[in-house]
Amino acid sequence: MVILPGMCCKQYVEGAQRPEVRCPNPACQGARLLGHGTYDRYLDGELRPLQRGRCPRCGVTHALFPEDLCAYRDATFEVVEAAYYAGTPSSGAQAAGQTGALGVRRVRGWLRSQKQAWVRVLEGLLPAAEGPWWERAQELVGDRRGWLTRLRQWLWSSFAYFLGGVHGLYRHGRPRLALVEETNIPWQLLR
Ligand SMILES: [Zn+2]
Repeated sequence: MVILPGMCCKQYVEGAQRPEVRCPNPACQGARLLGHGTYDRYLDGELRPLQRGRCPRCGVTHALFPEDLCAYRDATFEVVEAAYYAGTPSSGAQAAGQTGALGVRRVRGWLRSQKQAWVRVLEGLLPAAEGPWWERAQELVGDRRGWLTRLRQWLWSSFAYFLGGVHGLYRHGRPRLALVEETNIPWQLLR
């Protein structure tokens, strides 16, 4: 998974020109990813083709991600931020526009994921300070709307870590095997 710099979900869905992206593996010395087909995933409630790129040097393929799209979830960072601010699953679901019991369950999962191992890695990357990770992150990138996107950009440009959003932190954009074991669900079905 790599970030499409400067491109959000809205622009992606509208078919804006894709920016050039480079392989995050330092050994590849910034090799440009070449187009490598698409795969279908949910984006804005609909199955859409998401483009993939392949590095001509290491041969790894990467999904090309809008800056504000969660990995493995059909949710934008804007929606997740709204849920985080609200604090509880039910108020979070309401704030994030996630309807019904399924919406509450979804937001509960987002909030619960903050107790997983990836958050400890994230805490280790953030400047040392007191408080939970999101407060420390907001101190770094500002707390106005879009802070998760700015945090993702910072982690990517500083450490080549891809922030999934509500789940996971991926070194050089590579999913860990543990993720597959953990969910045990084909990721295309996760929404
Ligand atoms: Zn490469």
